[in-house]
Parts: sequence; C-alpha cells; structure tokens
Amino acid sequence: MGFLANKKALITGVASNRSIAWGVAQAMHREGADLAFTYPSDKLRPRVEKLAAELDSSLLLPLDVGSDDDFEQLPGRLREHWQNVDIVVHSIAFAPQEELKGSYVDNTTRDGFRLSQDISAFSFVALARALRPLLREEAALVTMTYLGSERALPSYNVMGPAKAALESSVRYMAYDLGPQGIRVNAVSAGPIKTLAAAGIGSFRRMLDYNARSAPLQRNVTTEEVGNVAAFLCSDLARGITGEVVHVDSGFHIVGLPGLDAIEE
Ligand code: NAP
Repeated sequence: MGFLANKKALITGVASNRSIAWGVAQAMHREGADLAFTYPSDKLRPRVEKLAAELDSSLLLPLDVGSDDDFEQLPGRLREHWQNVDIVVHSIAFAPQEELKGSYVDNTTRDGFRLSQDISAFSFVALARALRPLLREEAALVTMTYLGSERALPSYNVMGPAKAALESSVRYMAYDLGPQGIRVNAVSAGPIKTLAAAGIGSFRRMLDYNARSAPLQRNVTTEEVGNVAAFLCSDLARGITGEVVHVDSGFHIVGLPGLDAIEE
C-alpha cells in the first residue's frame, strides 16, 4: 500500500507531460492517491483530460486563477464528486514573456508586476481559501517555487519578487492553518525544461550552468520533484509545515562553483 493510500489530491498546473505538476501527479498516483485535476481554459481541457485518464482520473474542474468566479464555484463543483480533500497541489505561475529577459529595472511594468503577483502568488492563498471548507483535518498543501525568490538571477526578473511573495505566503498560510492541523509547504525546484520555463530568457544556459555547478553535477527531473511533493503531503511529513524544500541537486548551497563551471 502506498503512503498516500485513501488520500484525495487536487492537482493544478498540468499543461503537458513535462509539467512539474505531472511529475507530482504521477508520484501521488503511484503512492495510492485519488486525483482530480484543474484546467485553465476550455481549449486546454482535452489535453488535461487525456493526461488525467493515464492516472485513472476523470475528475476535471475549470480553474483560471485570474477569475474570482472560478474560485467561487470551485468548492461546489468539487463537492459534487468529493466530500473532502486531503492534498492540494499548486503549480501555477505566469509573467509576461517580454519581462523575463534583459534588465529587471528597465523592463518591469506595473501591469507585469501586478499580473505575476496575482497569478503566481495570490492564487495559492486564494486556492486555500476557496477549498478550506473541504480540507480534511491534517490536509496538506504544496506549491512550487524557485531560487529566484532568494537570489538575483539573469532573466528571472519579475518572477523573483512573485516567488518571494509566494514563499512568504506559505509561511503565513502555515501559521494560520496550523491550529487546524493543516500543513503548507513549498518545493523549490531546480530548472526543468517545461512550457513555462521556455518563456524565460537564456533558460538553456541556466540549465547548463546549473548542471555544471550543482554538487550532484546534474539537473533534477519532474519525477524527483514529484516524489518530494508527495512526501511533503503525506503523513510521513506530519511534523513539517511552512518549509521550503530545495530539490535542485544542491545548487542553492554553492558559494563558488567548481572552477571548471566558470571557465567553460
Ligand atoms: P508548466 O508546465 O507550463 O506549468 C505552468 C502551469 O501554470 C500551466 O499549467 C499553466 O497553464 C498554468 N497557468 C498559468 N496561468 C494560469 C491561470 N491564470 N490559471 C490557471 N493556470 C494557469 O510549467 P512548470 O515549469 O511545470 O511550472 C509549474 C510551477 O513550477 C510554476 O509555479 C513554476 O514557477 C514552478 N517552477 C518551475 C521550474 C522550472 O524550471 N520549470 C523551477 C522551479 C519552479 P497554461 O499552460 O494554460 O498557461
């Protein structure tokens, strides 16, 4: 029996079989969880539906996190199928592509800043609030973040402050929901080639540099990120909340990479 047997997990953010959320969904399915998925638009529904079927799920719910109406309707729509939820996976981010390159100071607009905060950070607390009536005691929520919240990196720009807000939100959510036994954590994943990542300028170079500089000398996979998210949402992690766990081959601990990485 898997360590998520008898748990019900709602997964957001599956856009393709390269999505981090897909790695999380696969790990949770393997460990015995029942899955439901959200899709952001009617256009993307067939793609998510096809992937969900691979993990024995036909429970799909519309959720564009920019829509208050979708958030209002989400709990009612879910309750038609499930009485409670044990696990909520938030794996959503967005920033205008033209702001994910060049100079942060020159390229950041008011609209871009607002939008990236709204879709990438506010959406997590909004999701928690919408689902709160269905969250079982000892439920667990997890979101996906990146090192760009803690360090300045080329091109990540406006997403850096959005991820910083998201991580801070994780702590406030953990503080608020802890008394009900509900846990909230984040996984800080190393760079992985996904649709969202393709929008970040010089991403391929980031991947190469990461692989050369990290202690494990390679990049991580969605499977590795998924395994940690599954663990954090399981009873094995009952004592962990408000935490940001790095799954990045150790890149975040490096002060000065091996000289080979710099000189290549
Ligand atoms: P992805 O496959 O493109 O997933 C991003 C998801 O966000 C997509 O499903 C996308 O849907 C969804 N989304 C965007 N705007 C939305 C909205 N308004 N409402 C609902 N959903 C919306 O890319 P990913 O890399 O797996 O990203 C997942 C998470 O991991 C993000 O938070 C990202 O910042 C984080 N992360 C990624 C990396 C990396 O290197 N890839 C590293 C660390 C953290 P559409 O495709 O329809 O827009």
